Formats: sequence, structure tokens, C-alpha cells
Amino acid sequence: MAIRIGQGLDIHPFAKDDRPLYLGGVLIPNHVGLEGHSDADALIHAICDALLGALNLGDIGQHFPDTDPTFKGQRSTYFLETIMGKVRARGFGLTNLDATILTEAPRIKPHVEIMQTSLAKCMQVSPEQISLKATRPEKLGSLGRKEGLLVMCVVLLEAVS
Ligand code: MG
Repeated sequence: MAIRIGQGLDIHPFAKDDRPLYLGGVLIPNHVGLEGHSDADALIHAICDALLGALNLGDIGQHFPDTDPTFKGQRSTYFLETIMGKVRARGFGLTNLDATILTEAPRIKPHVEIMQTSLAKCMQVSPEQISLKATRPEKLGSLGRKEGLLVMCVVLLEAVS
């Protein structure tokens, strides 16, 4: 049985202007968004990098360069759908993913279920395969000063026979 593991990490600063906050493809209300070329969905970016890493396919920046105007303001669900297509095309399927969001704010817990549903739909898997956790930086460093948000993700892929 062929299995592949991958890890991804992403960090974005919170924007100075009034951008919407997207995490896991979900609009999180009442909080300033993340700075970035696309919609800056750091959770999806970390998942994308974990999937690409599992198959040794480089990173999200190589597949969707932030110098390309096509991807300006692009919803990251498009990146995830495309990369999952590459995973399936290589004969693999997701066994499970486990992601941790490190941020002082907003509170993540109330949005976990809808993010799991959103990601499952986007990745064509079951929400049960998607674990989302959150922890606070306890006021330490730039994340503790609410200057940005960091996400770490691990995925396990299995060859589909
Ligand atoms: Mg990113």
C-alpha cells in the first residue's frame, strides 16, 4: 500500500484595509481579513502545500505565482480544487488531514464545522477526514499582538487501487 505524508505551513499578516477574512473557503464575519495576492486564505494555502509536499510537486507559489495578475483576488478554493485534481490524477486520495490555526483572534471554534463542510466539498472527501484545531499564541510575539495568523497542516494520502 503506497502512502505519502505532507506538511504545509502558511502565515499572513492581517490587512490594514477592510478586506474580508476567508478561512477554509468560509467568510468569517466581523474580523479584518488577511493581506495577500489571492483571497489570502491561509488555511487553504497550508492544505495546498501539504498536498503538494506529499507528492513532491513543489509548493503553491510555483503552481499559482503571486506575480500572475490572473490570481489577484482569486478565491483559494480554486487552488485547492485544482491541486486535489492533481492528487487524484496521480492515483492518490486523501486519507486524512489535520490542521492547526494559531491566532489570538478571531475565535475559530464556532466556525470549525462549517469550514470542515466547505473543505470537504471542495476536496470531494468526507468532513470526518478533516480535522481543524486552533490554539492561541498566548500574547507572544507578532501573532500574539494580533498582527497575523499562522496555519500548520499535515496530510496523509493513500494510493487508490
Ligand atoms: Mg499564503
